[in-house]
Amino acid sequence: MGRKEQMVEKLQDHMKDPKRVRNIGVVAHIDHGKTTLTDSLIAGAGLMADELAGKQCVTDSYYLEQDRGITIFSGAASMVHRFEDTDYVINLSDTPGHVDFGAEVVRSMRAVDGVIVVACAVEGVMPQTETVLRQALEERARPVLFINKVDRLINELKLTPEELQERFFKIIADVNKLIRNMAPEEFKEKWQVNVNDGSVAFGSGYHAWALNIPFMKKVGISFKDIIDVYQKHQNDLDAASKEIHQKANACQVLLDMVVKHLPDPLEAQKYRIPKIWGGDSESEIGKSLMNCDPEGPLAFMVTKMIVDPQAGEIATGRLFSGTIKPGIDVFLVGGACGARAQQVSISYASERFNIPAVTAGNIVAVSGLKAAISGETVCEREHKIEPFESIHLSEPVITKAVEASNTADLPKLIQVLRDIAKEDPSIKVEIDEETGEHKMSGMGELHLEIVEHRIKVDRKVPIKTSSPIVVYRETATAGSRQVEGKSPNKHNKFYIIVEPLEEAIVKALEDGTIEEGKDKGKELIAKLRDLGMDKLEAKNVKAIHGHNLFLDMTRGVQWLNEAIELCIEAYHEAMANGPLCKEKCARVKVKLVDANLHEDAIHRGPAQVIPACRMGIHEAMRGAKAALIEPKQKVYIRVPQDYMGAITRELQSRRGQVLDMQQEGDLMIIEAKAPVAEMFGFASAIRSAAEGRVLWSTENAGFELLPRELQDTIIKQIRDRKGLGG
Ligand code: GDP
Repeated sequence: MGRKEQMVEKLQDHMKDPKRVRNIGVVAHIDHGKTTLTDSLIAGAGLMADELAGKQCVTDSYYLEQDRGITIFSGAASMVHRFEDTDYVINLSDTPGHVDFGAEVVRSMRAVDGVIVVACAVEGVMPQTETVLRQALEERARPVLFINKVDRLINELKLTPEELQERFFKIIADVNKLIRNMAPEEFKEKWQVNVNDGSVAFGSGYHAWALNIPFMKKVGISFKDIIDVYQKHQNDLDAASKEIHQKANACQVLLDMVVKHLPDPLEAQKYRIPKIWGGDSESEIGKSLMNCDPEGPLAFMVTKMIVDPQAGEIATGRLFSGTIKPGIDVFLVGGACGARAQQVSISYASERFNIPAVTAGNIVAVSGLKAAISGETVCEREHKIEPFESIHLSEPVITKAVEASNTADLPKLIQVLRDIAKEDPSIKVEIDEETGEHKMSGMGELHLEIVEHRIKVDRKVPIKTSSPIVVYRETATAGSRQVEGKSPNKHNKFYIIVEPLEEAIVKALEDGTIEEGKDKGKELIAKLRDLGMDKLEAKNVKAIHGHNLFLDMTRGVQWLNEAIELCIEAYHEAMANGPLCKEKCARVKVKLVDANLHEDAIHRGPAQVIPACRMGIHEAMRGAKAALIEPKQKVYIRVPQDYMGAITRELQSRRGQVLDMQQEGDLMIIEAKAPVAEMFGFASAIRSAAEGRVLWSTENAGFELLPRELQDTIIKQIRDRKGLGG
């Protein structure tokens, strides 16, 4: 048996004891060193030749990611780590590093119980450090902190040990402040990171070394010693890093930190399950989930789906309860269908190994679950369970039309698009088998570019795509007067008022606190009341469509109970195609305030009620000063001072707004906000403006009112494109 096979045997053995398991992720602001550190850990744990660590990306199996230097698709790697004479299994879930893919980050958080937050020592806490930390805390994954790129503080900024300390304390204080603000109440204090107990480490992922106070005390090493080594080998960084790595192996220090400070699944599932699973905790499955019971009913959540052209669907995810074996029959809760688990595997040293069984509390890959999508709950056929809480997806903001270049590829393209929707539910695909012109929508230009690349290069289907189209929404900007909607036969009248929906409720709909199709009855009323809605209004909410509400405020209207379902249908239609240019509506409150119905049911069927209501709603929308809102992006840019002028000019020419500007050494850090519609080609524009010396990232920042002076032009453009006439 080879060394790898021996290690895989060991892994399988230890995976059976949840106390010896840690499921973790690494999260960071882009470029702070997440990928480099991940590789360094995997290398240190014996998976990769040490000298390759930090210089080659094993987790970035997708070459496009290497090109861009960002990790996009999460995979998982398992490793063995010895701590205080006991072997532990560390299941490391790789998290995508680009916030365009927020939903993927959150899904990979579902699999883990703890995270290493990487913060660059030079830049400190950045906006996305906050974003990823929030995502982790929302999933109740406990953080530890690694302050990375300390080599740069020593070699480039020439800081003394005292100055180093000062900088570290600032970063630690910033991170702790975020944890205090964002952690669930009971963990605000408990989860603070602390230098003295060793839940904070410092080092260089690139040079594969790390220190924390317990380790420094144990082996008697100080920052001065590290500085001395770098000075001794001033002209040979390789020699310096080798020597420091020998003294303070990053893998050992960081994985010790993980084992000591991050919870095992047995401990974590007790407080995570009530948050991520809505079922009854006293039921058999409830108890098994809380106790991470390998003998209990099966509960597996898919956090990543890959459709491999050869091996087929591979679902990676977290097994929260029971034992999974090849060949067992399972049930997909979301897909409402059965499936058979074929292979069960773990990933070790960048290779997949099939194994005979995996028990609760581990991250594992299962093949054969064809109908599953990322986010799916998998259980036994004979023991159906409540699904895990769904992961809230933000809305796509741009769309492209896709066509096969050769008509012969048409069926293949449809299959590939279906696979992609399965792998990444934040990509929305609309398939039109008749015209052959399909649409895909995503979180940004880069997001769709990557999908295109996957279709063309990985799946070898030549395609043509349209230029990207921005997704707008129609909204109400004022309250309307009461508007009458009359049925074609003139026997039925509906009186409608449209108003802008209150901001707090919009926010709850946008962040998934209130969900269409899920929240109803008393619970919905309570939530709306909590958000400040009037009691009577809250009681009268009859339907949710996207981020819009429908209220029946009528009293004692005869026959209305027989027609209300049709009114709701009309409301859905009206919201799906707004009055201005058939974009979806958002942030709208539609109130039915009165109605007059024909006594004979024959005269108030769907053909009468639906158009009357729909037109009434649209008329009221117009009365409510309907206008378009457009998606915006936050943009973070780092650039040498000399290029500041050129960059701000570029932003201004794109309706960008500079929100904040900070100087750090020779670098300027700019935070701005700009419309998605103006951001096409931004990457190459700023690269040439700054002669390539610029780093930037973006984050979706929700919808805002399109400026008045652009409203008519854009509405006309959309109407022309959709062939709606002037
Ligand atoms: P990610 O975007 O967070 O995954 O960051 P990467 O791991 O891709 O690192 C971004 C850049 O910083 C790369 O050029 C790395 O070589 C560099 N880098 C990462 N860690 C260190 C470090 O500890 N020291 C130095 N000097 N550079 C680092």
